[in-house]
Amino acid sequence: MVENKWVSTAADGDLLDQRVATSRLLGSDPSLVLHGGGNTSVKIDEPDITGRMKKRIYIKGSGWDLSSIERQGFTGLDLERVLELSTLDALDDLSMARELSSMRVDPSSPAPSVESILHALIPFTFVDHTHADAVVTLTNTVHGIDYVKEVFGEDVIVLPYVMPGFDLASLAARTFPELVSPKTIGLVLMNHGIFTFGSTAKESYDRMIELVARAEQAIPQLPENLPEEKVNTGDSSAQRVDLAKIRHTVSSYANKPMILTSSLNSHEVAFARDPHVSQLSQHGPATPDHVIWTKRVPLVGRDVEKFTEEYKSYFENGSEQSRNPVTMLDPAPRVVLDPELGMLTAETTIDRAIAVGDIYRHTIDIIRKAELLGGYSSLSAEDIFNVEYWDLEQAKVRRAQNAKAFAGRVVLITGAAGGIGFATAQHFLSEGAAVIGLDIEPTVSEAFTGESWLGIVCDLTDSDAVDHALDVAVKKYGGIDIVVLNAGVFPSTKMLVDLSTEEWRTVMSVNLDSSVALLGKVHPLLQLAVGGGQVVIIGSKNVSAPGPGAVAYSSSKAALTQVARVLALEWATDNIRVNIIHPDAVFDTGIWTPELLKKRAEHYGLTVDQYKRRNLLGVEITSADVAQLVVAIAGPAFSKTTGAQVSIDGGNDRVI
Ligand code: ZN
Repeated sequence: MVENKWVSTAADGDLLDQRVATSRLLGSDPSLVLHGGGNTSVKIDEPDITGRMKKRIYIKGSGWDLSSIERQGFTGLDLERVLELSTLDALDDLSMARELSSMRVDPSSPAPSVESILHALIPFTFVDHTHADAVVTLTNTVHGIDYVKEVFGEDVIVLPYVMPGFDLASLAARTFPELVSPKTIGLVLMNHGIFTFGSTAKESYDRMIELVARAEQAIPQLPENLPEEKVNTGDSSAQRVDLAKIRHTVSSYANKPMILTSSLNSHEVAFARDPHVSQLSQHGPATPDHVIWTKRVPLVGRDVEKFTEEYKSYFENGSEQSRNPVTMLDPAPRVVLDPELGMLTAETTIDRAIAVGDIYRHTIDIIRKAELLGGYSSLSAEDIFNVEYWDLEQAKVRRAQNAKAFAGRVVLITGAAGGIGFATAQHFLSEGAAVIGLDIEPTVSEAFTGESWLGIVCDLTDSDAVDHALDVAVKKYGGIDIVVLNAGVFPSTKMLVDLSTEEWRTVMSVNLDSSVALLGKVHPLLQLAVGGGQVVIIGSKNVSAPGPGAVAYSSSKAALTQVARVLALEWATDNIRVNIIHPDAVFDTGIWTPELLKKRAEHYGLTVDQYKRRNLLGVEITSADVAQLVVAIAGPAFSKTTGAQVSIDGGNDRVI
């Protein structure tokens, strides 16, 4: 239930401070606005630079989210000039955007909301606009208009759906004067959302909460707890492959790597399993803005190709009547409802995929409730098309495009809690990848923040633990494209005669056996990798230039190198590249304490600095240097290289 979160401090400061405060209150409630939806404004009289008083409207700027908006997120516009636009007979979208931008008080402020003209027309200081679930539930029903009139009476003006932007503002300008009464506290836009207004920030906010609460009371509640739905049926490794297949197909139709994330909430699973889901889910979004995230309808089942065919005909029908020439967006689904796998959402980054899931989760709730009110009905495909292919919405999409080199790719790194593994994770994350880090160290789970990082504490020698980690990882990201085998132990220096069988076995088990076992488990996923699978193995200089006292370590890395060479042969036809990096003298890792470094340097009669640079180029090699090479090998420059061994050791005459 919507809750009035007003706090007296929200009245502190000037009008813009108050505007920021209640905008954030609205933004903090996902039942009112989601992921950048909704907008707010305030009208302020203030002097310009010459001291002349000006009427201005400060409206939410594009790219800001109400939940975290700040003063600079509001764009000031000359109010009188904005109002003049509403008197035009017609105004195309790009001209409107250009005109509004030219009215900015500060040219460096963000592009003003496409609803600027409507906000300007509403004769109140504060104006709030949301796509409240309860309001769109009422309006997206077969008899929506009757419900709206019954619930809100004369307190609100009701406008039929028209395209947001100039068309809506123009309709409001024509009809407002006759519809508005002293009782009016809000405006309901059918199939879109609600506006409230007031002379203070509190008044406008209170009215929003009051009207939404009234709508909620008119809507039957869904049963609190649906029966527990189990997503996990059958073999978990087969299910990983199923998810990777869907991600692979969606990515190929999207023509870019996509993350596919699973939602395991029982409501979504139940919806995906509803015998009527094919009918219930195909009406359209709850508010037109959502089309940018979810596309018009979800895919039910796994036939991605059929979905894209239907999308193409939706595009063809829509573009025929479009006002502007339009280019088709990728036809791949963003929401997949699968009876077995539940709700899956796809996007170029995990954050965006989660946002799609949040929006569709609310949509499911809205559809369920609207069904109890006589049936869910959304806008026509043509209306939705016009928003999806609206120039101004397309600009939002273009701004959100993630151009990072590894966006949408999924990397698994073993031994990721420190040293080379940590540095490699950091580098891949900065290039836009989603990264799964496995390590026996508990610090791995918190090694990085954000949804692109999934740190899992895992003993690589425990087969069940590895399976579980892969299950969790594939449910979160939909597959694995790149595997970096970095985990390894380097026991204290010992000659073979002093080495126990247990010590030998431990090194072989961690450095070699567990890596081989992991490669076996990830092979089916790498076959389905987006852009071809890859394995990068962290070897060692010791493979080609061993020294005394590390027989177990050197042998394990030599065997792993041979494994990689054989896999390069065996997996080439699966489009999986396998390459090896041989670092040396990387001292910024957990193994090398300052004391140990000092001891080794003294052993050679060198200072620590000389010891670190004991190579042909006289350079120090860091974990970050190795990470950079790993990322480069995984990148386009090496896309035609497999089975290669690349040294990163500053030059070593024994290796050369
Ligand atoms: Zn809106």
